[in-house]
Order: sequence, then C-alpha cells, then structure tokens
Amino acid sequence: MMNNKQVSALLNQLADLLELKGENPFKANAYRRAARAVENSRVALDELEKGPEELPGVGKGTAAAIRGIMETGRLEALDQLLEELPSGLPELMNIPGLGPKSIHLLNRELGVENKEQLEEALKQGKVRTLPGFGEKKEKKLLDGIQRMKRFTRHLLIHGLTVAETLRERLAEHPEVLQVEPAGSLRRMKETVKDIDLVVATKHPETVAETVVSMPEVIRVINQGSTKVSVLLRMGWEIQVDVRLVEPDQFISALHHFTGSKEHNVRFRQRAKEFGWKVSEYGIHDEDHEETFTFATEEEMYQKLQLPYIVPELREDRGEMDHQAEDLPQLIRAEDYRGDLHMHTRWSDGSASVREMALAARERGYEYIAITDHSRSLKVAGGLTPDDLKRQREEIDAVNEELDGITVLAGTEMDILPDGTLDFPDRVLKELDLVIASIHSGFKQDEETITQRVLNAVKNPYVHIVAHPTGRLLNRRDPYAIDLDRVFEAAAKTGTMLELNANPNRLDLNDRDLKRAKEAYGLNVTINTDAHSPEMMDFVRFGVATARRGWLEAGDVINTYSLEQLRQRLDYIRRNK
Ligand SMILES: [Zn+2]
Ligand SMILES: [Zn+2]
Repeated sequence: MMNNKQVSALLNQLADLLELKGENPFKANAYRRAARAVENSRVALDELEKGPEELPGVGKGTAAAIRGIMETGRLEALDQLLEELPSGLPELMNIPGLGPKSIHLLNRELGVENKEQLEEALKQGKVRTLPGFGEKKEKKLLDGIQRMKRFTRHLLIHGLTVAETLRERLAEHPEVLQVEPAGSLRRMKETVKDIDLVVATKHPETVAETVVSMPEVIRVINQGSTKVSVLLRMGWEIQVDVRLVEPDQFISALHHFTGSKEHNVRFRQRAKEFGWKVSEYGIHDEDHEETFTFATEEEMYQKLQLPYIVPELREDRGEMDHQAEDLPQLIRAEDYRGDLHMHTRWSDGSASVREMALAARERGYEYIAITDHSRSLKVAGGLTPDDLKRQREEIDAVNEELDGITVLAGTEMDILPDGTLDFPDRVLKELDLVIASIHSGFKQDEETITQRVLNAVKNPYVHIVAHPTGRLLNRRDPYAIDLDRVFEAAAKTGTMLELNANPNRLDLNDRDLKRAKEAYGLNVTINTDAHSPEMMDFVRFGVATARRGWLEAGDVINTYSLEQLRQRLDYIRRNK
C-alpha cells in the first residue's frame, strides 16, 4: 500500500512532465493541487470514507488517477509520458534553475533532449538568446551540469523511503524468511549510491522472479540465484541489489554487505589473529574444516572477542581499537526532548505556532523554540522587531493554553554579508533563544565568512549558530569557512553549533561532529529546521548523523530537561 507522500510524489511528477511536454497548464495545475491535498491530508488515503474526492482540490479526473495509484501502485498517464518523452529530458529538472517550463522551451527551440545536448547548446551560446535565459543563467546551468556529473549519489531519505517500502513488501513474501537493508544505507550515511537488501530464503529463484516483476522496475541489470539487480523508479531512479542467501548465512551476509569496506578489512584482520577467514557465508576455521554461522551480529563480534559495533560506527574511525567500556553510548531517538529551530507562517513555515506546539507535544517533546527568519531575509518573509513582539504575545497565549509543552520565543537571525547581525542586542535580549545563521554571501572568501560566523559566536545574546557550513547535499558545497576557529570560539564562549537535521543539509556532518567533540569538547544541538509539523520527522536523520559522529546523549543539549536547557541558555549569556 502506498502512503500519501508516495502518491503525492507521483502526482507532482506527472504535473512536472505535463509542463515539460508543454501541455495545457490547467492540467498540470490540477495534478499539483491534488498532490498538495494528498500530502497535507491528515487521513491516509485508504481511510477516506468517500474516497479521494473528499479532499479539497481533488476533482473527478485526479481522483481517478489517485484510485489507479492505490490499486496498482502506478500512475498510467505518468508511465505513458515517460515512454513518450526523450529519456534524458526529465532528469534535466535536477539542474538548479531549470523548471519543466524552461526545459520545454529548450526542447522546442533547440531540440535539447538530454544534459549532454544542453551542455553543448550552452557552450555554443545558443541558450542565452532564449527568452528568460541570458548569460548569468547560462553560467549557472553549466555549473549545475558539472555538479550533476559529480553528484550521483542519492539522499539518505530517498534511499530509506525506497528501502523501507521494498523491505515491507518482501517481508510479506511467503518464501522470504528474513530481509534487511544493508550497505551505507544501514550505516545511515548521508547519501547512498544504491540500495542493498539481504534476503534469507530457501527458494532464491522465486524471490528473484518477484523482485524483477515489481511494477517499478524499469530495467533488470542482473538476475541470478544469489543476486538480483534492478533499476527502479519510485519517485526517482535508483539501483537495488538484492542478495539471496541461505537462512543460516543471513547474519554473515548482512554483516558483509553492511560494510564499510574499511571496517570489514579490520574485521578480517582480527579474524586472522585466530587463524580464521571471514566471508559473506560465515567465519571459517580452515584447520578444522569448520564454518561458524550466527543468529545475531552481536554473536559474530563476540566470536572475535570484540564488543558489538553498531552499523553507524563501522567506518574504521577508531571503533575497532576500543574496549567495550570505551565505546560511546550513542544517543538514541528516545533521548531527544525538544526541537529548537523551526518556522511558522510568521515567516516561511506552513503552520501556526499552536499547530507546531501540538505536533511537538504529540511527539512527546517537552519544549520547542519558534525561530522564524529575521527582517533581511525578505524572500522568506522575515520578521521585524515589531513582528517579534506580536509573535511573543501569540507564543505566551499558546503557553497559557497548552499543558505539557513549553514554547520558547526565538529567532533565526541572519548574519549579514558585512558581518553585522540583523537585530540589535536590545531586540535579541528579549528573546528566549537566538539562532544566527548565514543565508547570503556564500561566495565570500574564507576569512570574511569565518569572521562573520565568529561575530555571531561572540555576540553575548546568540545561543546557536545554525547549519554552520551552509552546504546543501547534491546542490551546494559548503562555503569557505575555517571550522577549527569556529570550534575554538564556541568552546570559549559556550555558543552552540547546530547539527541541522534536514536531510538536504546534515550540517555539521558526522566527521566534523566527532572532531568538535573530541578535539574541542563541544556540545551541539540537533534541530530539524521544520517548516511544517511533518518535517519534525527529520530528527531521525539528525540523531543518525550524531551517532555516526560518536555523540552520546550528554553531548546534545536537546536531551536536557527544560530546566537544564534554561540554565544552559542563561549560562551562555552570562559567560560571554
Ligand atoms: Zn536557515
Ligand atoms: Zn531555519
């Protein structure tokens, strides 16, 4: 069964392709409206009493499409369009600055059908003469194509969505005894190249047949009795490798395909000390012609007299050199008590303060901070000092009304290109929580940007610097910043750095987090930067990245009680 998000993704994709083909805009808009209605619906599609028509903005035609998706998992009109359009055309939408309408224009006017042809046309200066393009855009698109060539990995969130769908599906298969995702996805790496699934079965051919006949398969890369590889389209295109193994080999195979390669090398070296060999089938004692298999990964590590190492740590970053008692007790999802960075309709969020508070309470949080953008970020409807006062009244009222959740009044204030902050201290000091961050001037040199951030770190009223490197995975590299100087200043002042949990950001990344803790003794804060209640789910990616950075609950201030949090916030201001 497909969930609302998956259905809405298909509808949006269809709308894009209709525009890309140059169809009547009303048609595309109807699908987009329906997609939005499905995504925003609090009720799952199959629980709607009268069907999709119940949702606002869903008409007869779009309702039929939704029904089709629910019945077959596919959208026929979309499949047809994909068949019809040049296969390299849809992926051009991944180039920043290119929407479906401009791609249609490029195709109609210049016959562009894929990124190679687009690159050629750009280089020949043909594109800049088209309406709405120009030289600046030409350069941006060329950069975008370069980037696209460089980034071929998928965001973790995309990989997980596909892996979890497949895992649920395969788990229901009568011949599947066990199924788990492996690979970098299981290690919760920020991006993944493909999806690995390990399946325990006595009938590999039957399972392989099921895999290749799934409706989303667009190409079978390889079909054997131990491995099937397919290219799937489930919102996006991704390769899936399914390993088919004997039930008693399942754990060894899962361990083997989870990696990382570097960790496995260390694991094999360790086995060698006992005179054993490790493979995907088990640990072999060749002298005694014996193969050990395992019921759990814990047993496998035990066999080599090693403490159990969770997948997120298997990167050969020191995990094999620790005694059990020195390995970190990694932070868990249930340790997290409140989210300190989120937006509401006051700026560019989609919900009210009250709605965000209710959603947080539902998740079992004790507190949240509302941190809308500041006045200079006009594209996001940034707040003026007057707006902040009125918002504070609204927050007070919500706190008055709701038990079990405390809402802190905050801001996400821009650090301006000249290094000054968007609000004066007298405005900041009225707020419970002040975040500072960079949203402009990304191209400045390292010294300038580092100084901008240091100004914020040293300001007596700033508690947090959000998304400290500004990177967007697959889209924008980090700006030039000397993180060590920032870490040092943060250690001195107590100002906290953020791990922004948005799956496009994950900023700070796992390596920087580990270094911030080990070399500078820093605590961090994990926040989702949610622009809607659903986006608070991103905390999962934040916690996973923190685990990859070896962080324990005590390293993350969102595990504090409200009382401890307030003390910490006070301390930061008194300390500077
Ligand atoms: Zn931001
Ligand atoms: Zn934000």
